[in-house]
Amino acid sequence: MSDEQVPVSVITGGAGFLGSHLADYLLAKGHQVVALDNLITGNVANIEHLAGNKRFKFIEHDVTEYIYLPGKVDYIFHFASPASPIDYLELPIQTLKVGALGTHKTLGLARAKKARFFLASTSEVYGDPLEHPQSETYWGNVNPIGPRGVYDEAKRFAEAMTMAYHRYHGVETRIIRIFNTYGPRMRPNDGRVVPTFIVQALKGEPITVFGEGQQTRSFCYVADLIEGIYRLMMSDCADPVNIGNPREMSVLQFAEEIIRLCNSSSEIVYKPLPEDDPKIRQPNISKARETLDWEPTMALEPGLEKTIAYFRQLIEKNAI
Ligand code: NAD
Ligand code: UDP
Repeated sequence: MSDEQVPVSVITGGAGFLGSHLADYLLAKGHQVVALDNLITGNVANIEHLAGNKRFKFIEHDVTEYIYLPGKVDYIFHFASPASPIDYLELPIQTLKVGALGTHKTLGLARAKKARFFLASTSEVYGDPLEHPQSETYWGNVNPIGPRGVYDEAKRFAEAMTMAYHRYHGVETRIIRIFNTYGPRMRPNDGRVVPTFIVQALKGEPITVFGEGQQTRSFCYVADLIEGIYRLMMSDCADPVNIGNPREMSVLQFAEEIIRLCNSSSEIVYKPLPEDDPKIRQPNISKARETLDWEPTMALEPGLEKTIAYFRQLIEKNAI
């Protein structure tokens, strides 16, 4: 392939959990990848294995500021944003800014480069849902002024901005609504339930179940998500598409599963349920099945085993 034919993809949030897996996937597909990240919740360790790869470039940059990139760009994947509840509670203004200003800047780049734009949105746009499972047609039940509002409303604004650029500027756009995704490279201390429970179980510490643990989530392995992202980007679907694993379980069942798989003697302790914590969450993935011929292939147990192995080696290296 001549240089002109090599597709160029930009990933904002490219040093994060999902962004770094996406970089690996796109490089394997033959893309040139430019990762933009200000490292606010990301980590260069996630991309250090790509150092020296001639088709990969990392630029430390805050995407709420003007983005200058020379040369052609074919695809822009906008993944920059604090993503875990404790991150966005600690970084409320940055979360709002990257959802609003960061989305505006990256859409502006897409327009200037005539690139296709992809927004990483979230199941949080459905808030504490009154429809179950959640379909893309559901408009959501979000508390705009609650502690999670900074994330939910930023993503809702980002979706609106993306559709405005699509309708008024003719930018080719894609919107994914990502449901809880897990796998290696999650930050051990990001507070999300998967790394938290695994690290607690491996260290023999108490497992902190919030509320009575009856709230539900549906967990998708990262490789399945990344495949769905690529298929959506390459499709002609401008409307939002849910990607996630419909296998739903309560947080308490999840804690018990982690204790079993880690062979742990940790006890379960109960802590207060955070404000506005969604009570139920399960994706309706009919649209992804029909339009992308996509569905998850990784079962929970092997997916968790890979993730547990990742955190176990971090503990063995005394990295956490
Ligand atoms: P992450 O925190 O690992 O990655 C986010 C990355 O964005 C980090 O590397 C961070 O440093 C970077 N970033 C944040 N603000 C930035 C800014 N202003 N400029 C440049 N970089 C910035 O989280 P993740 O789980 O990989 O999430 C990635 C995206 O996917 C987020 O947009 C998130 O909302 C979305 N998402 C993730 C999940 C999930 O389950 N992991 C679910 C729904 C949506
Ligand atoms: N949770 C928990 N204990 C923890 C961390 C999270 O019980 O130490 C619960 C949390 O209240 C929520 C679910 O696990 O109901 C998933 O939380 P996470 O932070 O992973 O993401 P969310 O799906 O809420 O965005």
